[in-house]
Amino acid sequence: MDSNRTPRITDVDVVDVRFPTSRELDGSDAMNPDPDYSAAYVVLRTDADRGPDGPLEGHAFAFTIGRGNEVQTAAVAALREHVVGLSVDAVCADPGTVSRTLNGDSQLRWLGPEKGVMHMAVGAVVNAVWDLAARRAGKPVWKLLADAEPEWLADQVDYRYIEDTLSRADAVALLRTGKEGSAGREAHLRSHGYPAYTTSPGWLGHSDQKLVRLAKQAVADGFTQIKLKVGADLADDVRRLRTARAAVGPDVRIAVDANQRWNIGEAIDWTNALAESDPYWIEEPTSPDDILGHAAVRRAVAPVKVATGEHVHNRVVFKQLLQAEAIDVLQIDAARVGGVNENLAILLLAAAFGVPVCPHAGGVGLCELVRHLAMFDFVALSGTTDDRVIEYVDHLHEHFEDPAVVSDGRYTAPTMPGFSSRMRPETISTYRYPDGSFWAADLTGQGKDTRI
Ligand SMILES: [Mg+2]
Repeated sequence: MDSNRTPRITDVDVVDVRFPTSRELDGSDAMNPDPDYSAAYVVLRTDADRGPDGPLEGHAFAFTIGRGNEVQTAAVAALREHVVGLSVDAVCADPGTVSRTLNGDSQLRWLGPEKGVMHMAVGAVVNAVWDLAARRAGKPVWKLLADAEPEWLADQVDYRYIEDTLSRADAVALLRTGKEGSAGREAHLRSHGYPAYTTSPGWLGHSDQKLVRLAKQAVADGFTQIKLKVGADLADDVRRLRTARAAVGPDVRIAVDANQRWNIGEAIDWTNALAESDPYWIEEPTSPDDILGHAAVRRAVAPVKVATGEHVHNRVVFKQLLQAEAIDVLQIDAARVGGVNENLAILLLAAAFGVPVCPHAGGVGLCELVRHLAMFDFVALSGTTDDRVIEYVDHLHEHFEDPAVVSDGRYTAPTMPGFSSRMRPETISTYRYPDGSFWAADLTGQGKDTRI
């Protein structure tokens, strides 16, 4: 590289990566019986010199569950022209400007606005920028955020459509308060990690015997909360929840998750029918867009809590869920909304309303990413882990260079620079769809074309 030239982003690679998870029924729920966990995987290439390991890059992805990942991949590719040529110094100094530029494309905005496939594509690119910035700073993303000045962090948020509820001044005040005592919390995080809960026992595809075995194993492994998928058959769910409760005893929290299966009346009746086994929260009882419906469910099923967020499109819908007192637990997802910047807005909204954040994870790579956001929230925003847990599923972590580690029911704080978003090269060459080595052999065996 010419030493007089500012380093630039030189290219954006997008790869369709799919894992054949549907063949083992892990991840099965009432609405998604056969997911093939997938990633529209992004690499921002640069001509910055990182030293002996080669050029600096930013990696991230949008998560999908199989068919349609080619649509997600195309959406990411549509953003390429906004990113190629940008100064590495500039994007690392202010990822918020990249976020605003991508969300503001006047033609692509028609495909949302700020929702769905295009917004998830924006999220993937923005998260890749944060990976790049954190690698350059030599810090994990949670630490980069926790060390940042409140005013700079506040400038990373787009207040459009939420300013009536959260202004920049509100954000600065929350972040200043959040920073008080942060050194002590960071030390605690590094030594004790962050609480997790596990969904592994509760997939709908499991037998009762497997449910009991995995639920007991979860308690033995140090988890104080597990989660069961519900919503396919009421009699089955009553039996499965009783079975799980008997297996774990009265002191372990059991959340239940309907994955949007119900109408409002069904959600209320079904949840109340499960109440005898003391479920902690009902997750996604109905459409993620039905704010008033969630509020009605919440009023009718208390003291069972209502949780949602993994399919909530953006900060505007989260604002309304909070304003309508529709949720007890807010579930951010690292790869659903517009990336770190929008999740920062959502964490600030949750802090302003005093609602605990329990991030959604699982799939592929979501545990790796979202722990950074929850850990930042603990160290430098909400300042607490009370009633807060990050979802954990022990699945597909081996594909990442900096995998999520859970020990004694708690996520370990990552220490490697970046967003933990980088997949191993051999994973990509094996599971790239349809021409990676796994899919080429598999699809050829089925007599299908494997050319891109
Ligand atoms: Mg869920």
